[in-house]
Amino acid sequence: MRGKFPLISCVIAGVLGVSAGSWPEVRGQTLSETRTSLRTQLPAMFADRQWATPKPGSWTPPRKGDDGLPPVFNRIQTQDKVVFLTIDDGYEYDAAFVDIVRRERVPILTFLTTNYVKGHGQYFWALRNAGSRMENHTVSHPNMAGLSAEAQKREICRSSDTITAQYGRRPQIFRPPFGSYNQTTRQAARDCGVKSLMLWSAEFYNGTTSPRGVRGEFVRGDGGTGFKPGDIVLMHYRKGLAQDFTTLLGWIRQQGFRPAAVENYLPMSLGGNAPG
Ligand SMILES: [Zn+2]
Repeated sequence: MRGKFPLISCVIAGVLGVSAGSWPEVRGQTLSETRTSLRTQLPAMFADRQWATPKPGSWTPPRKGDDGLPPVFNRIQTQDKVVFLTIDDGYEYDAAFVDIVRRERVPILTFLTTNYVKGHGQYFWALRNAGSRMENHTVSHPNMAGLSAEAQKREICRSSDTITAQYGRRPQIFRPPFGSYNQTTRQAARDCGVKSLMLWSAEFYNGTTSPRGVRGEFVRGDGGTGFKPGDIVLMHYRKGLAQDFTTLLGWIRQQGFRPAAVENYLPMSLGGNAPG
């Protein structure tokens, strides 16, 4: 039974539409009203939000490796002016961020480091309900390439087990911390039920400084500037995320791009929703 109570609290918090960090005002509401409300709203909240799917033929999914292991990719091949926003770790919280994701209906993908998010299930439940899948970013954020096969497997499998228990869906995409991985990482990922490894093509240094010391800088991996179709952008759960995210959305729209759901550009065999 242990472990059930936090989940139930999160469910109730989610149904009542509360943001992380505050509890809902339920005074004056009778228990039976609450029950009716739960009954009508539960089905809606357990359904993931549906995001627009791309036109067939408008993109090329990442290639599967010949070795049968989960492939590694850092962008999606497409001519559509779409970018994919991914947010990692989970060490710091900004309740206003949840409101923006909800209000603006922005598809995001979350990579959780499960040790970081202990005790903050409510925050990520709210994001899950706003349409973000919870994918795997290890238990303790190590440099995977420096670990034994056994240790790598433990980092990935235990993180997936925790995410499955807390959010009701087993992660199928893995992001290695620091983008560091080797062949053993791909084998460990496969053994833990992961279907692909997602890196990134650009990083927005929200709440921190880029390698050349600029706070809030947007840096492309290929050295270019601005967005390119199919970019996967890395951000982090940090303080001030709401404001930084708003800034990034502004840049994306200014350049004629829009955020899209990366899972809809990945076939099911790689952990996404698309056919194949
Ligand atoms: Zn990370």
